[in-house]
This record gives sequence, C-alpha cells and structure tokens, in this order.
Amino acid sequence: MNEPAHKPKSTPSPVPEGGDAWDVAVARTEAACRVLGLPSGITAMLTTPRRSLEVAVPIRLDSGEVKTFVGFRVQHSTTVGPAKGGVRFHPDVTLRDVKALAMTMTWKCALVEIPFGGGKGGVRCDPARLSVGELERITRRYAHEIMPVIGPERDVLAPDMNTGEREMAWIMDTYATARGGAGGATVTGKPVIVGGSESRRSATGLGVAECVRMVADDLGLPRPVRVAVGGYGNVGRTVAEVLGEDPGFVVVAASDVTGGRYDPAGLDLAALAEAVDDGEGVAGAGTGAALRRDDVLTAPCDVLVPAAIGGVITAANAPEVKAKVIVEGANGPTTAAADEVLEAAGVTVVPDLLANSGGVITSYLEWARDMRGLAAVDSNDAEWMRARIRRSYRSAATFAAERGVSLRQAALCLGVKRVVDAHTARGLYP
Ligand code: NAD
Repeated sequence: MNEPAHKPKSTPSPVPEGGDAWDVAVARTEAACRVLGLPSGITAMLTTPRRSLEVAVPIRLDSGEVKTFVGFRVQHSTTVGPAKGGVRFHPDVTLRDVKALAMTMTWKCALVEIPFGGGKGGVRCDPARLSVGELERITRRYAHEIMPVIGPERDVLAPDMNTGEREMAWIMDTYATARGGAGGATVTGKPVIVGGSESRRSATGLGVAECVRMVADDLGLPRPVRVAVGGYGNVGRTVAEVLGEDPGFVVVAASDVTGGRYDPAGLDLAALAEAVDDGEGVAGAGTGAALRRDDVLTAPCDVLVPAAIGGVITAANAPEVKAKVIVEGANGPTTAAADEVLEAAGVTVVPDLLANSGGVITSYLEWARDMRGLAAVDSNDAEWMRARIRRSYRSAATFAAERGVSLRQAALCLGVKRVVDAHTARGLYP
C-alpha cells in the first residue's frame, strides 16, 4: 500500500471509556469529520439529530389497568431522503440509544447510496411480558403518537429488535386508517401479502456473504476459505448456507444462543438446519464437535462472521481471534477497544455499516415500489443489492488505502462525506 497522502495524526481511540451508545456514535463521527477536515460547525450539525420525539404510549392492559409506556422516534437526518430505520421494543431502550442508532442509519444509507436519511424508534417495554393484544395496542398507539412526523416522504419505519412483519402491518394499518390511502410506503419489512418484499428476508445475509467473497478475493485467502459464524439466526444462517454452496468456502464453526459446533473439515449444514428448525439449536446438531458458544469467536478459521448481538468481540477475547478477517453481520459486534487490538494484529474488519447493509438496500426497493404502486416483482432485487454492496465496498477499500485508515473509518467517512456534500448542494435554510 502506498503511503497515504493525508494520513491522520495517530489517533488513540476516539471513543470515551465507559461511554454509552450515543457517546460512542458521536466520538466515531467526530473522528470521521477530523479525517475529512470538516469545520467544527459542520461536525456539530452532523452530530445533532434533526428531530427527537419522546411520546407517552398509554394503553389498557388485559387486566383493565391503564399503563403508560414511553416511546421515541428520532430522525437524525433527512438531507438525502426521508428518515429510515427500525422500531425496537425493549425494556432498556433509551433516547440516547435511539439517537445513536438513527445516526448510524444516516451514514449507512449514505454509504450505499440509497436516497434515505437516518431514523430509529423504540418503545420501552418487555414484549415477553405482554399479550398479543397488548402489543398491538402499544404498536398502534405508538404509531398514532409519532404520526405527525412519519410518512412515506418523511420517515419510513422498519422492524428491529422484537418487532417484525406483524408490527409493521399494524403500523401501516394505523397510518392508513388515520390518513387514508394504502399506507404501505410508511413501513418496510411488512408481510408480502400487503406489499412486503420476499427477498428482504435473506437480503442482509446475502450481502454479508458478498462481502466475505470480496474480502477473501482481495486478500487472496487460500481456498477453501474457512468460515466461522457466530449466531445462527436470519443473518448467520443465510451467510453459512450461501457460502456453503460455494466450493471456495467451508463453514467450520457455528454457534447460537444454545452453544457451538466445530469441524475443521466443514460442518454438515443440513444437520445444523434441522437442529435449529427443531428447536434444539446449534448445540443439538449432530455434526462436528461441541464447542462453547463464545469459543466459536476464537475458533481456528480464516473469516469470522459475528452475526448475533453487539459487543461480543472485546479487548479480552480479541487477542485470541484466529481469523484474518472479520465481517460484521451483527450491528456493533466489535467494541472500540477490541478494534484497536485487531488493527494492531493486522486483522481486516469489514464493518457493519457496509457488511449488513443488504437489508436496508432491499427495503429501499420495497419502498420505491410502494411509492409508485408497482406490484412486488423482486426477482432482481438480490443482484441489485449485491451490486450496490460491491460498489460501496470498492469505494471504502479505495478510501482506506488512499487515506491510511481502517475500512471502518473509511466507510464512515464516505457516508458522512455524502451527507455533507448533499447539505452543501441544498444550502442551509433560511
Ligand atoms: P435473529 O434473532 O434471527 O438471530 C440471532 C441469532 O443469534 C440466533 O441464532 C441466536 O440464538 C443467536 N445468539 C444470540 N445471542 C448469542 C450469543 N451470545 N452467541 C451466539 N449466538 C447468539 O437475528 P438476525 O436478524 O439474524 O440479526 C442478527 C444481527 O444482525 C443483529 O445484531 C441485528 O441487529 C443485525 N442485523 C440484522 C438485519 C436483518 O435484516 N435481520 C439487518 C441488519 C443488521
């Protein structure tokens, strides 16, 4: 690699010790702004969400008691297009978390060049303790309370933790009942029968697998490339099954919440699928040797795909990681401290911002069809999405090489730069 022309001064971790998700998101964005040489006024604008809404969500429980939940919707940016992002139901969700997630969506959509800004929402509740009826009332009342700021051209909602097609259908229906019209373009990730996209379900995993292929080619990893997959849900299982069909790859380790399996010669993916579908989980699969769940992260392999939850690769286990490459299927699987350890060890990390963007890219197609009233014909969606990811990967790799920064910083810088360029083109009101 050539000596970068604008190598930034050696930056110790920009991420504050003990900071929460919002502190981390702001620190990373500020670091990207420094790489781009942006003035402090622009940095401050970019790290201030455009609109943050906190709403009361009172509902009548099945017991007859009235209980008030708290909900949030944050629109970090609408510069490039309507805000876009999921809604999570979780007992610990805070406004600061939602702000961080909304900001990340802005940079992700800009990086992969889809005309969306960034948004996120949440309701502080524990779905495990609520009936379906109670969940429906929470979802509909939440949708009603945030209705003044959402809509197909303002803010488009999607599933996130503990929400799915069912909740999206309720939101769509609530919106349509109040506003008239079909309401479909207000949400993505809705059931196929009401305009959802068949290809959305596998899109994120397909995009992650595409990144694995690209980075393996770029680094010239010897074939077959040994892959370990941490988390065997929607994303992880798709990655394993797609790469498992390619003779250039072999899935040697996999885990889910129940435990892990390892076979240096390659796991039997049909056996894994059967065990997961039967509810036994990966631990119950009759293939390979049993491995502790977290040991899959440090198992011998060439490429590690963390595809479960955030914060699993830490300063404590990063020195034990054997993979030469990490492709982040999950959001935020690598802590900032782990990032430093991995960078020093020469491990290439393909960041979540890029690697798991297949879902939002495909959601864009769902939204665009709804806006135009087109029937859902999504046979070409996957290839369109893969091409988008390949282009973004190339841009990030080039930026990283030219500036001497990590792929993570490069991806963030490209996202931030596109939003700044759009701001510049539009000017500042008034
Ligand atoms: P999922 O619920 O379908 O699967 C999660 C899997 O992780 C399950 O197999 C679960 O058993 C396993 N798991 C949970 N805790 C674990 C642990 N500590 N160690 C190992 N495995 C564990 O979820 P998903 O939709 O596949 O999403 C996975 C990750 O990808 C999440 O971080 C999510 O935010 C991110 N993501 C998903 C999408 C999408 O389209 N589904 C898009 C972008 C990002």
